[in-house]
Amino acid sequence: MKKIYNYLLVLILLCIQAFTAQAQFAPEALCGTAEPSDAHYKYIESLNQQYNALDIEADSNGTIYLPIKFHVVTDINGSRYDQNTLLTVFCELNQKFQGSGIQFYMRGDVNVINNSLYYRHTSNAVGSALMNEHNVIRSINTYFVDLSAIGLCGYAYFPGSGPGGPLREGGLMMSIGCSQVGNTTLAHEMGHYLALPHTFDGSSTDPISPFAERVTRNPNEVAPRFSANCNTFGDRYCDTPADIYGFRWNCNGMALNDTDLNGDTFLPDAGYFMSYSSDFCMNKFSQQQMNTMRQTVRSSSTTPAPRNYLTVFPMPAWDTVTSNVTLLEPLASSTPSPSNFIFFRWSKAPGATHYFVRIRRNNLPVTEFTTTDTTRLFTINLLQPGLTYTYTIRPYNHGWTCVGPSQTGTFTTTQGYGVSVFDPKSQEVVIYPSLLEAGQLLNIRSGEAQLQSFSLVDIQGRTVMQAPLESGSIVHQIQMPVLPAGTYHVKLQSNRGPLFERIVIQ
Ligand SMILES: [Zn+2]
Repeated sequence: MKKIYNYLLVLILLCIQAFTAQAQFAPEALCGTAEPSDAHYKYIESLNQQYNALDIEADSNGTIYLPIKFHVVTDINGSRYDQNTLLTVFCELNQKFQGSGIQFYMRGDVNVINNSLYYRHTSNAVGSALMNEHNVIRSINTYFVDLSAIGLCGYAYFPGSGPGGPLREGGLMMSIGCSQVGNTTLAHEMGHYLALPHTFDGSSTDPISPFAERVTRNPNEVAPRFSANCNTFGDRYCDTPADIYGFRWNCNGMALNDTDLNGDTFLPDAGYFMSYSSDFCMNKFSQQQMNTMRQTVRSSSTTPAPRNYLTVFPMPAWDTVTSNVTLLEPLASSTPSPSNFIFFRWSKAPGATHYFVRIRRNNLPVTEFTTTDTTRLFTINLLQPGLTYTYTIRPYNHGWTCVGPSQTGTFTTTQGYGVSVFDPKSQEVVIYPSLLEAGQLLNIRSGEAQLQSFSLVDIQGRTVMQAPLESGSIVHQIQMPVLPAGTYHVKLQSNRGPLFERIVIQ
């Protein structure tokens, strides 16, 4: 019997639970990336000189693969960026970079960070603390948080700047609201991370100044007209038209009539990811922009690349996942499963190394987990008996996430087994009473385990209470908050990993 309990505990430890709350986000507009320094502009100008001298795409030597480390920050109430959306948005990022000669892969699994201070991002100082603490070396560290307090869609750091230290400096800070399917903020911020300014940088503050990028591309205009200055002003790219619009503008409906020093009307191209046009207008990088990004990650014989450290190790080999899984168990026709003992089984999808499993009820997420196997015995006390649930399984690998979720499966539950994830014989950790009055004390006897923190999770998976536990204490007493009657799950963090127990509040 002890073996079975240990097995259940291991299963629970392996299980990545992702509770997703449906949140509404305030409309967020702008990008918080700083305008480049003079030194950064000089860097881009030097790359352009090489590019112009070669008069060809400077580096057509195969696709460059770059590792991204995704960090998903979770609020205390369970709000976090949806992992299914992340997989789709990552696929879209690679589609947007097709033609640039750069593609991305995921460096390991998504890193989930439970920290409300980091989630509710109120200043760049919070972002710096987050990056200093969690940036992984030789990876593009990309965080998903709530940036609505500072009204931003995202921000990123240019090469050679930002927190984190050598081989891991800077990264991307993404708002959840601007990271939905079809949004372009991730591609835009990635452009910054790989050295690109906005198309309007250097020109938007004073479009008729002599220091703004002019519309003309003629280097030999006759006085009184002024010649082209696109190599040394604005974003430094002559293959992106002069742009002065540092606000969101609609590519289809906005009359833009501003003129430059020559009286020429600005005709910015809304297609560029590095502009501020509406997301749906954007679809490209220019050749010079692509050249800059490639030169920023791969050193040439003449120029060391500031982010060369991203390409030192080759990408592991992954196949394209071309087909989805077939659900095998449970099926709608199956015998109902005990609510805490459900066996999932599905066919292997060729090329997939991971499967993202999502369980829902009435189209609302209940729980989700990722596994590398094609079976899973689900033993967590999260589902209720006598109900119908649906589930989907999404196959992927760290280089390919473009296959969506499988067809939807359905199963029903019966009364769960009365098992505990604790081994009752060991008497190591005991929680009592399991049936509490509102406001009653809950006792936890730690035995030999060293308990670190206590969380109370409701049946929807929302954390309703958290408290640290004093190390060294044998008995801990927790004052229960006033909560609606019902079943709750106690999660204890210990030196032996997380432990779970179910209690009922009357
Ligand atoms: Zn930007």
